[in-house]
Amino acid sequence: MQRGSNGVVSLARCGSYAVDEVKRAVRAALEPLGGMGSFVKPNQRVALKPNLLRGADASSAVITHPSVVDAVARLVVEAGGSPFIIDSPGAGIPYAPWSLRRLYQRCGYIPLEHSAALNYDCRITTVPFADGRVLKRFDLLSPVLDADVVINLPKVKSHGFTYLSCAVKNLFGVVPGLDKPSYHGRFKDRERFGGMLIDLCLLLAPALTICDGIVGMEGDGPSWGGKKELGLLAASADPFHLDLVICSLIDFDPMRVPYLKQAVHEGICAADVSAVALKAPETLDSLRVPFSAPATFDAPGVIDRLRHAFLLRLVCHACGRLLSITPRVDTAGCRGCGVCVDACPNRAISMVSGRARINRHRCIRCYCCHELCPYGGIVLSPSRTGKILRALRRAALRRG
Ligand code: SF4
Ligand code: SF4
Repeated sequence: MQRGSNGVVSLARCGSYAVDEVKRAVRAALEPLGGMGSFVKPNQRVALKPNLLRGADASSAVITHPSVVDAVARLVVEAGGSPFIIDSPGAGIPYAPWSLRRLYQRCGYIPLEHSAALNYDCRITTVPFADGRVLKRFDLLSPVLDADVVINLPKVKSHGFTYLSCAVKNLFGVVPGLDKPSYHGRFKDRERFGGMLIDLCLLLAPALTICDGIVGMEGDGPSWGGKKELGLLAASADPFHLDLVICSLIDFDPMRVPYLKQAVHEGICAADVSAVALKAPETLDSLRVPFSAPATFDAPGVIDRLRHAFLLRLVCHACGRLLSITPRVDTAGCRGCGVCVDACPNRAISMVSGRARINRHRCIRCYCCHELCPYGGIVLSPSRTGKILRALRRAALRRG
């Protein structure tokens, strides 16, 4: 993985998921990077890591579209490599052959077997990482570690906990599903979780990232936000700078993405997109499509500013629970499947009379339940205090 401001980020326009158009766009995005042959040599085993958060239709914008994975797999084969597709779905979903089969079916990935193998090998390997800033050891999917090359294939999405889900966040998928809640439990605050994501990204060091930004997700992503056309693919050997460019394209402040903020402070990532070696058909301004932010990051501005004042930090921490966005079960939408119970890292959810119930005192606001409920049975809403502050802020903005 190339890091520092020399990592080239390449963009290519792509207006639809038509197979030929996507393949043309992937080639165009890879051309400034030297083509697929720069990353894949004959006879290498190549892990393709899409975003398969949960079993969802390709048109939902929850997952990396199969057309993108197919186009990349075909180029890997052209370069002489052997591609296989691997991911572990979201927190609390077992990582087992039966759940993977169901995931591939629901995501429309079964036809991809013509271009790449679908992984059913569920071995897990513990990897020491002495240089880790927050974690010195990871339990990861073994086939990814055995691969000669890892190609990261994220989807551009907003994210309730990390603000952005793209190149760096996508790699969390190589943590097995049932282990994910324990990571959320250990790294409850966004900064520590972000540090873990940086560690994981540096440990895995994907050779190449190609992100599906043809149709992304805005608002309350990564699972239940709105679809938004961005109309492009982005490719880079540097996942941090790719995410920085995506932030600029969707009008997200990169300093609100906890792992990018930390990466900038550590010199892993440039602070400004102008420092990135960009290869694009047009200017960033002409390609920009603003995405709406997740409600979980829409904290009243005054409170955000107060958080930075040292003396008021403790007060803000104490008030945090009153002000933050909380998950709530929509009893009309809940079908009692129990996925959220398994996904919750702090055992805050139980089943009562066939419906989920959240113990708000135990909830650590990780939003895994909202992310993984297959039926939209969890909604995010501000507390009463938060609603009042938001109303005050809106009124102040109107007057100003
Ligand atoms: S809230 Fe969603 S995930 Fe939880 S039990 Fe209900 S339907 Fe299942
Ligand atoms: S109930 Fe709270 S702690 Fe549990 S998954 Fe949902 S947001 Fe996370």
